[in-house]
Amino acid sequence: MRDETACLHAGYTPTNTQPRVVPIVQSTTYVYDSTEDVAAVFDDPTRSLIYSRFANPTVMAVEEKIAALEGGVAAMCTSSGQAATLLAILNLCQAGDSFISVPEIYGGTVNLFAVTLKRMGIECIFVDSDASDEEIDRAFKPSTKLVFGETIANPALKVFDFGKWSAVAKRHKVPLIIDNTFATPILCKPIEHGADVVIHSTSKYMDGHAVQVGGVIVDSGRFDWTNGNFPDFTTPDDSYHGITYAGTYSQAPFIIKARMQLMRDFGCYPAAHSAFLLNLGLETLAMRMKQYCENALVVARHFEASDKIAHVVYPGLPTHPDYALTQRYLKGASGVISVIFEGGKAPAQRFMDSLKLTSNQVHVADIRSCVLHPASETHRQLNDEQLRQAGIDPGMVRFSVGLEAIDDILADIDQALAAC
Ligand SMILES: *Cc1c(COP(=O)(O)O)cnc(C)c1O
Repeated sequence: MRDETACLHAGYTPTNTQPRVVPIVQSTTYVYDSTEDVAAVFDDPTRSLIYSRFANPTVMAVEEKIAALEGGVAAMCTSSGQAATLLAILNLCQAGDSFISVPEIYGGTVNLFAVTLKRMGIECIFVDSDASDEEIDRAFKPSTKLVFGETIANPALKVFDFGKWSAVAKRHKVPLIIDNTFATPILCKPIEHGADVVIHSTSKYMDGHAVQVGGVIVDSGRFDWTNGNFPDFTTPDDSYHGITYAGTYSQAPFIIKARMQLMRDFGCYPAAHSAFLLNLGLETLAMRMKQYCENALVVARHFEASDKIAHVVYPGLPTHPDYALTQRYLKGASGVISVIFEGGKAPAQRFMDSLKLTSNQVHVADIRSCVLHPASETHRQLNDEQLRQAGIDPGMVRFSVGLEAIDDILADIDQALAAC
């Protein structure tokens, strides 16, 4: 199935008299005919319909759809994007282990990596995206278990160099984990470019309508867990009566291990109703992504032409330093633009407060246009000097372009620019 078709049909194929739409299975548990049947389910973790803390038919339909869109073999939904990132790392690292990440990643992920995982004894080694092969190789330790990056970084809007980093991961025999939230599988399929595991915050474009917070982990099924670096995959799991994940369940060992160890113990699984809402968003994802890209490019060019704007950051503009990577890896540059105002914070705030159609909210990737001012909102604890160090200009506004008629979006921008 092509993307447009998979968005509508993958994961759920009703037959004779079954509901046309994925039903909401609002049940914590599932009935079996005999104790023998229940025992068989416990013996085979791929048949995990035991309890809705780690598996539910509505959620599983969505998992199958997302796995199909990403070109993976299996997926597991989580109750947030943060939970997806956490579980993906904990599936490979324990206290004493380390992993490599580029610094241009989501702010919540930076905090998880640099503060919370550190407290748990897991070290994140941040390596400059432009580091040489020698510098990168020197950063690796015997305890290093994975490499992490983001397709289009939120908020830096840097495009990930898949060729460079997938070669690094291969050379060191560790998986490459990619946060594909801003691109979605419609604009980029990281597995085709060497990623082994893909994660998402489904709260953004996948849902699109700002109605559910969620996440997902996708297993490419391609990584060789038997290469000697991952004994947790090749030795029996005593906590699951002696199952060996990369042996018996070689189809999708990463997801089966994540579900049967981590989801079982942490329980951050989404509710069936959230998965139902996410599925409605996914049905139109292919259509919506094309329109977000089209609208955002027009808006980015419009800002570039204004003398009130010092600089526009959008990976779809030829002036963006990663434009060549955009051309190579993306079918479009998605819908988020950073606009830096001449004169800094004051005109940026006047612009935001003058917008009428576009809403001021701490969210991006909504179906409606919205703006956010990092200096006075998400990063307000920092002074101007600290903001610059964090790569955030005090005059920077993040504009998440929605699906309103482009002329209405531009008219709103123009009246707000005139007021600042
Ligand atoms: C929002 C976001 C997250 C965190 O997701 P939540 O659903 O808010 O927990 C992770 N990565 C990226 C790129 C994001 O934009």
